[in-house]
Amino acid sequence: MSIILHGLAVQTEILSRLKPRIHKLSRPPGLAVVLAGQDPASEIYVRTKIKACAELGIFSAKITPPDTATTEELVALIEELNARPDIDGILVQMPLPKHVDARRVLETVAADKDADGFHPINVGYLVAGRPAPRSCTPAGIIELLKYYQIPMEGRHAVVLGRSDIVGKPMALMLLHQNATVTICHSRTVNLPEMCRQADILVAAIGRTAFVTADYIQPGATVVDVGINRVTDLAEAARLGRSEEAVRKGKTVVGDVHPLDVARVAGAYTPVPGGVGPLTIAMLMNNTVELAERHQGAA
Ligand code: NAP
Repeated sequence: MSIILHGLAVQTEILSRLKPRIHKLSRPPGLAVVLAGQDPASEIYVRTKIKACAELGIFSAKITPPDTATTEELVALIEELNARPDIDGILVQMPLPKHVDARRVLETVAADKDADGFHPINVGYLVAGRPAPRSCTPAGIIELLKYYQIPMEGRHAVVLGRSDIVGKPMALMLLHQNATVTICHSRTVNLPEMCRQADILVAAIGRTAFVTADYIQPGATVVDVGINRVTDLAEAARLGRSEEAVRKGKTVVGDVHPLDVARVAGAYTPVPGGVGPLTIAMLMNNTVELAERHQGAA
């Protein structure tokens, strides 16, 4: 029987640890969320983040520049937020409209207000193993592995995907937990064989049910970061999803085959309900840490 690693339980634990820290602050932590453009998925993500802030007692400011906003206008907006004393963290919801230079906008966020942990200075601190805001999704996965007491030290962790926001920081965080880490990507040769060597396999590639039984060492821990919408009824049925869920437009499948992982892995995160709740929890965590830093320095 495999163990299901539920993200909500870990989220609850992380948020409950934050509450007393928020109460100790002289003013509520403040998070600015910048949502430019009209991507429906982004709107849902932003709503969830604002709701989490409200439940926790974090002040949030939702800023919605028009989707015609230029790079210069967004840079000016971020600079204003950098200067606001009531804002501790700034999150720029991706994707930005296509005409915007996303990198320039993101790098305008002050390193000490970088709620997402994407700023090159904070990435440098991660490499050096020094405290700084960390990329939320991989940081949440480390919390999940700790919560479920999955040993990392000395274990072979394989990270499938090398994006700046998930794969690379995930590999570094596992390394800091003393795992032996392999990073795989689209040019890796013998991918199933490489993945099968993993005691801990993290899949973050954005390919529906790509990781099948032949990628998984029996008994391994498998963390599925992928969020892929499935609209094809036959495909959904093959993946064990109900027709009703597809009709309601609610079928989300990860990068790991849901039926195979349940059969082969020793422990695994479900999709939905695995990694997703952790990302929000770590965003709240980063915001509180930044507020503590600002108020300590004040
Ligand atoms: P990304 O920026 O598109 O990066 C995908 C990575 O996967 C790349 O490194 C790419 O390799 C690799 N890849 C793609 N196809 C591959 C293949 N066939 N074989 C081997 N490697 C392959 O994606 P991301 O931002 O890291 O996100 C990955 C997934 O996680 C997406 O589904 C995303 O929606 C989801 N996500 C979920 C959360 C959450 O909170 N649950 C948070 C963030 C992301 P190359 O570098 O060689 O191109």
